Amino acid sequence: MTEPAYDFDLFVIGGGSGGVRAGRIAAQAGAKVGVAEEYRMGGTCVIRGCVPKKFMVYASQYGKSIAKSTGYGWSVGEVSYDHSKFVAGMHAEVDRLSAIYDRNLKSAGAEIFNDRAEFVDAHTLRLKTSCKIITAKKILIATGGRPWRPSPAELPGVENTISSNDVFEMGTLPKRMLVAGGGYIAVEFAHVFAGLGVEVCLVYRGDTVLRGFDEDVRLAVHEGLKEAGVRVITKTLLTRIEKTADGLSVKLDNGHEVKADVVLMAVGRQANTEGLGCEAAGVKLGENGKVIVDEWSRTSAPNIWAVGDVTDRVNLTPVAIREGHAFADTEFGGKPWYFDHADIATAVFSQPEVGTVGISESEARKLYGEIDIYKTRFRPMKNMLNGDQTRTFMKLVVRASDQRVLGVHIVGEDAAEMIQMAGIAMKMGATKDDFDRTCAVHPSAAEELVTMRTKWVPEVI
Ligand code: NDP
Repeated sequence: MTEPAYDFDLFVIGGGSGGVRAGRIAAQAGAKVGVAEEYRMGGTCVIRGCVPKKFMVYASQYGKSIAKSTGYGWSVGEVSYDHSKFVAGMHAEVDRLSAIYDRNLKSAGAEIFNDRAEFVDAHTLRLKTSCKIITAKKILIATGGRPWRPSPAELPGVENTISSNDVFEMGTLPKRMLVAGGGYIAVEFAHVFAGLGVEVCLVYRGDTVLRGFDEDVRLAVHEGLKEAGVRVITKTLLTRIEKTADGLSVKLDNGHEVKADVVLMAVGRQANTEGLGCEAAGVKLGENGKVIVDEWSRTSAPNIWAVGDVTDRVNLTPVAIREGHAFADTEFGGKPWYFDHADIATAVFSQPEVGTVGISESEARKLYGEIDIYKTRFRPMKNMLNGDQTRTFMKLVVRASDQRVLGVHIVGEDAAEMIQMAGIAMKMGATKDDFDRTCAVHPSAAEELVTMRTKWVPEVI
């Protein structure tokens, strides 16, 4: 039987990090590739996530850096900040990067459709605006995720709030902001806006932010928020948001009210599968609409794969990129491999930032029982002359039986840069002895990672 002729060997739905990588690698391997993107090339990371967020982090740090420079002999005149000027610069860079994504795909030979694609069946897609019908032998779902918000029935007045998507479009800064949530996005933006001079109140339903991270990291970040001037309200939910003459009045389930000009809901994200027609294609969805996949990113339909946030595995840009690359190498490059999700180093751009790889102390105790802990908390050298009391925290979680390092956790300046390197050691299966044999780089904060010699012993009260 002859195989039906398809328009494309591979059609990718979604021009974000995972989709673009997969499309480019498949096209370079000789496949005829089409990519549909309904908004702008680059996806969450480039357009309304990691990239503009990191610029906002940098913007928010300058004020404190300028103030601190006096300890190093600088005298600074009147300082002012123009948010609209910063936002224009940030968007120009985002535009440049988005164009690069577009160019790279095209130069690899892929065809781009600035349109929304929806499934008609497992091999057929309809482009929503042009109404064009496209067929493909293989299809990759790389539609990412979007901010989730409770419904107006669950939280009356929620329509008066913004999400992380809207943050990048704010041309002026509010005076007061309430941030709901205690995950990556809530913590990062609470610091960003506090650093830019906004009065920030963070309301979180748990007792310490960043659930799932090592407990010491959570405590350090929680304290860091307060030191940055953020008012942190824990074990509390929002119950109602009302517009008043004076901005927004936010009612809390502890009976209190917080007044704000902007309420940022950062209470999680959900997979972008609504209206995609996955049922028509035989693609099974799981909780919150995520596409269910195996380790090869295969969905329940034999010719359809999915990578990145839409699969809700580990929702990070570099992970989506690796998943997309592995898929394209396997299906089009003759090099089968799948991405190993163990020991992914990650950073939270709180201030100071978090760098973490491996498992937490409590997870390690649960899995392996006997664990050695090494930890240190110190005021970095740079802060000695500038009056900054912020401390750096570092922790190694080590399996007692074979001294294998199971987790490295850092809260401090440049933690993201340090953890990338520690991630290599972890991937190679480093032991505590390997860390000890490594000569320190002096003077640096990172050297503490290889000079911790004394096991931490819990205080007995
Ligand atoms: P997270 O899942 O990290 O955090 C969601 C937060 O909202 C949690 O604190 C959660 O509380 C709270 N929450 C959830 N549901 C409710 C509810 N119904 N009412 C009140 N609070 C609620 O999501 P984010 O949106 O912050 O980030 C999404 C993902 O994006 C991250 O997990 C990460 O993978 C990625 N990301 C990565 C970044 C980076 O690499 N630096 C930056 C930003 C995002 P609880 O803890 O109790 O569940």
